[in-house]
Amino acid sequence: MARHIAVIGSGVTGISSAILLQRAGHRVTIIARDFPAPFETINAISQINYTSPWGGAHNRWVPPHPSNPQSAFEHPLSITTFSHMKSLYSFCPQTAGITFLKGIEYLEAPGPEYQSLTTAKAAELSLPGFRLLSPSEFPDSKVTWGCEYETYCVNPMVYLSFLLRRFVHRGGRILKHIIRSPAEAFSLSARSTPSLANGAVDAVVNASGIGFGDDPAMFITRGQTVLVAEECDATVTRQNADGSWTFCVPRGFEGGTVIGGTKEMDDWESAPRPETREKLLKAFAGTHPKILAGKDRLTVIADIVGRRPSRKGGPRIEGELLDLVGANGKGFVMHAYGLGGRGYELSWGVAERVVEGVEGYFKGVRRESRM
Ligand SMILES: Cc1cc2nc3c(=O)[nH]c(=O)nc-3n(C[C@H](O)[C@H](O)[C@H](O)COP(=O)(O)OP(=O)(O)OC[C@H]3O[C@@H](n4cnc5c(N)ncnc54)[C@H](O)[C@@H]3O)c2cc1C
Repeated sequence: MARHIAVIGSGVTGISSAILLQRAGHRVTIIARDFPAPFETINAISQINYTSPWGGAHNRWVPPHPSNPQSAFEHPLSITTFSHMKSLYSFCPQTAGITFLKGIEYLEAPGPEYQSLTTAKAAELSLPGFRLLSPSEFPDSKVTWGCEYETYCVNPMVYLSFLLRRFVHRGGRILKHIIRSPAEAFSLSARSTPSLANGAVDAVVNASGIGFGDDPAMFITRGQTVLVAEECDATVTRQNADGSWTFCVPRGFEGGTVIGGTKEMDDWESAPRPETREKLLKAFAGTHPKILAGKDRLTVIADIVGRRPSRKGGPRIEGELLDLVGANGKGFVMHAYGLGGRGYELSWGVAERVVEGVEGYFKGVRRESRM
């Protein structure tokens, strides 16, 4: 039975969930403060808390291992998302904002999850095109482990604009509005908000990125990157022994290449640090000099600062029954926030879990009303 679902959030989590809820037959409205737009028009200050434009965004496989319990939960979500990206890319290679390419990893101090990653183990984990690199392929003697595999990058605003257009074309509705609490979304109806012709809201999805300030496990991880004009034919990631990272994410679609990057917990500085820019550019050119194509310097288009919506213990993907004041009594909210640095690469798997949670709730309601 078709229901009206309000999805709070128009980042990668919200739009992916909205599309799959729509595909499951529901009437869906996306309510958000920020919507996808050309990257060049997104405001670095007023929209810094909208993380999706500032992401790379590439898929890096994180091998599941007992030393990292979250990885076992997330790996199947990344496999589902990979299949979705592959299928969308094969149907819409010119328009969906997705590029398939080689992923290269260099590690100075590999943890147990990498040390145990053999070709056989990679096949078991469904990692496509996996190959261990030989030491002669490492960029320098500090690197002690390396691999390559097949992966994808997305140009965030091309990809999300594509998905949003598809959602609206198939009957989805959108409302630009700042919500104070998920409970507020239940009060939005055609009566209160004429642009919503979807009827009373039956359930809400909270895909607000960082949540509503009531979850003590949430924190931000600042990321500073540099967008350069040069192209790169692979997405290259290096993890250094001191815990720092060097990477590049080619965005495709004339979007340049993102050179990264920092991971700074609880750092709210919104302005780019000039010394960080220089460090990032130098480190990446040192690891992958090919990107310079013989030039002295990379061509900087912009500095990027974003806030990864991080959560201790991993993302919150679960349902909650809220007490509502007024005629509604109870309201079901499916939370899907706190995706940290993996929002794109887990997005389709998360959206499937959102649909399962919402449908599971409605099945329960039907069972209760029959008793
Ligand atoms: C530097 C950097 C590099 C990254 N690289 C990668 C990468 O390579 N791969 C990858 O997978 N991920 C990457 N990420 C992480 C990824 O960008 C995020 O995980 C993802 O964008 C989170 O998406 P989201 O939809 O959950 O949240 P957001 O994109 O933040 O969207 C939240 C939505 O909720 C809305 N909203 C919030 N509060 C309210 C409110 N009160 N009322 C109305 N609307 C509201 C916002 O307007 C927005 O529409 C990177 C992040 C950064 C910063």
